[in-house]
Amino acid sequence: MIMAKTDHFLITCEHGGNRIPSRYRHLFAGFEALPQTHRGYDAGALALARELAIALAAPLFVSTTSRLLVDLNRSIGHPRLYSEATQDAPATVRSEILESYYLPYRNKVEADIAEAVARGSRVIHVASHSFTPVLDGAVRNADIGLLYDPARPGEIELCRRLQAQLRALAPNLKVRRNYPYAGKSDGFTAYLRRRFPAEVYIGIELEINQKHVLNGGRHWRAFRGWVIEALCQAMTERK
Ligand SMILES: [Zn+2]
Repeated sequence: MIMAKTDHFLITCEHGGNRIPSRYRHLFAGFEALPQTHRGYDAGALALARELAIALAAPLFVSTTSRLLVDLNRSIGHPRLYSEATQDAPATVRSEILESYYLPYRNKVEADIAEAVARGSRVIHVASHSFTPVLDGAVRNADIGLLYDPARPGEIELCRRLQAQLRALAPNLKVRRNYPYAGKSDGFTAYLRRRFPAEVYIGIELEINQKHVLNGGRHWRAFRGWVIEALCQAMTERK
């Protein structure tokens, strides 16, 4: 992957916040505590996305509405597009949520990519996410996960470079590829790969372990610094 001047960087954050619009709050009766948990949003992902966009002078698209309303990182038809709080809402309510929250976000990002591709640019998209350190009693043994499609050479190369940069900057961090999820499973980047060929679209998900976020303070600031520097190096390095 030889980086070119025409590369268009793009940062997104689908799970940036846990806001439940007042119009739909009644759907969360019995699920009031859920938005505060890791199920409600990706702690830390928004702060990282913002700083990354500034560092790369890249456009930034974020959602601060909870994924429990509708999950922007799931395709239409996916069984977990809606959460337990919204899945049983009347079809009219669900389609209103789709029209008001899901489609505007997804369409805006897709349009930005389409415009860049039409101009002759290649798009490099980083979606900022985070994962809970312990899920169903199992400890996740990675600090950072890099999710990509192993069939897309540009994504493999970007993740390899990123992993190498992180190793150099912060050797104590455990960086794993396609962990804790497989990059090619359903998600926004997986959808975008079907819309844009590998030559013009490189989309990866950056997954950070929330244990680095929840401790806060100086460590969290340093952690963001390592990730941002490593990504800037990996994305702008020219051969
Ligand atoms: Zn996420």
